[in-house]
Amino acid sequence: MKEIMVKVSRFDPAKDRAPRLESYTVTVNGGARVLHVLHAIHDEIDPTLAYRFCCASGQCGSCAVRVNGEPVLACMEEARTGSVIEPLKLPVKKDLIVDLLPALAALPPIQPKDEPVMPTKQQIDAIKPLRSCIECLACVSVCPAMDVTSFTGPTAMREEMRLALDPRDARNRIPDAIEQGLFTCTSCQACWKACPKDIEIPGKAIEKLRALANRQGRTLPRHQEVAALVRETGRSVTREKPTLLEQVGEVIEPYGPVKATVGFFVGCMYNMRLPQTALDAIEVLRRNGIRIVIPHEQICCGSPLIRTGQLDYLDTLKRRNIEAFVSRNIGTVLTMCAGCGSTLKNDYRTPFKVIDINELLTQYGIEPPAHLPVKATYHDPCHLMRGQGIREQPRKLIRQVVDLVEMPAICCGSGGGVRSGNPEEAAALGSRRGEEIKKTGAEVVITSCPFCEFHIAGHTDKPVKNIATVLLEGYKEKDRKVKSAH
Ligand code: SF4
Ligand code: SF4
Repeated sequence: MKEIMVKVSRFDPAKDRAPRLESYTVTVNGGARVLHVLHAIHDEIDPTLAYRFCCASGQCGSCAVRVNGEPVLACMEEARTGSVIEPLKLPVKKDLIVDLLPALAALPPIQPKDEPVMPTKQQIDAIKPLRSCIECLACVSVCPAMDVTSFTGPTAMREEMRLALDPRDARNRIPDAIEQGLFTCTSCQACWKACPKDIEIPGKAIEKLRALANRQGRTLPRHQEVAALVRETGRSVTREKPTLLEQVGEVIEPYGPVKATVGFFVGCMYNMRLPQTALDAIEVLRRNGIRIVIPHEQICCGSPLIRTGQLDYLDTLKRRNIEAFVSRNIGTVLTMCAGCGSTLKNDYRTPFKVIDINELLTQYGIEPPAHLPVKATYHDPCHLMRGQGIREQPRKLIRQVVDLVEMPAICCGSGGGVRSGNPEEAAALGSRRGEEIKKTGAEVVITSCPFCEFHIAGHTDKPVKNIATVLLEGYKEKDRKVKSAH
């Protein structure tokens, strides 16, 4: 037996203006789950505590709550002292009970065919990854697109795709899905990471529905323009200045002994729009013993096409990019764009290892920069934090050069083709990001993705910088101090 203290959100709309956290201490068995703690509070301290549960074995989804801010099933989450237990971020009916009806009512019903049809084994297997939903609504509670649009949400899209794959369904699911907000999803992956059944909604439902929409000629015009640009130029954005590839040679040697050799996958944004940021990164890498090989024939990774369901040209992009590095015997390819890194790691099958710059620098260790008297906050790019599981490495680097103040990890609204296809939604999410930045009191915003960098800069009055640029500033300050000491 062990004693556990938790804080639980209490709220009775008939009496309270706002929810409040109450502390409770209970004794439970070792290995107890959060649900056992709620039972103990209810049975031994306060029988008015309202919470839902049913199967108590992770099968029904009714006990979903937030523990320390993260959606979980109370019956599966180990109880830990000090935890804060709150309802999902959905309209609260009482204490931990939320209103599930609006989201459940948005789930589309099947429209049966007149003639009975039996799905084949192949069709059943295709549906499988989308079938295990237990309607806990954890995904709905974290979806940023739902906060600022009338999007019906991730599990409704999951169900639309499930039905699109089901031969017993008679309906063309695409017009409905578009009407319900198919193109409002930012590909942030928050729904997938929150799902207790690990349903990959962005990749297995939303991108697949967008690909079906493409086959029906329903891709957004702005997304079609991006695809046409990729076909014509090999790049998803137009140039505004000399590109990075025009400014650098193929092999860049480090200043000191070689610790590692990597191929550098530059990405469209750093090549065409933010070459100085990539040049800053190259300086940081040279200073830290990294030899860089940059094949100049590399092109767009294809992420803007995958996220928007335009897959016709994708194999060509993949083949040309893989050949560019394989032909130089590159064993490790470095990315500094979160979107490119996530795409190469998750959507390609590469014969080489792909590593993000934050991973590389923390793996080999960096020469310590000067610590600057600056208060900075860090924006987690969705395709770095969720797409590649990289959360701690950027923080480790940032803390070496500035003081870091945290803010909630929320999507800035630039991904999934939303910035180009739904600019009003992107602006609303960008403004929300700007508000969170303001609350931190930070003087600088640091991130590690060109799309986030570009988008957030339009929604804050603080400078938005790449980690590499900030590290380089630390090195320049260190050099200045050394010089002035002599
Ligand atoms: S990926 Fe993000 S925006 Fe898209 S449905 Fe999931 S939570 Fe919502
Ligand atoms: S998709 Fe996953 S998170 Fe969403 S309701 Fe279903 S089980 Fe819950």
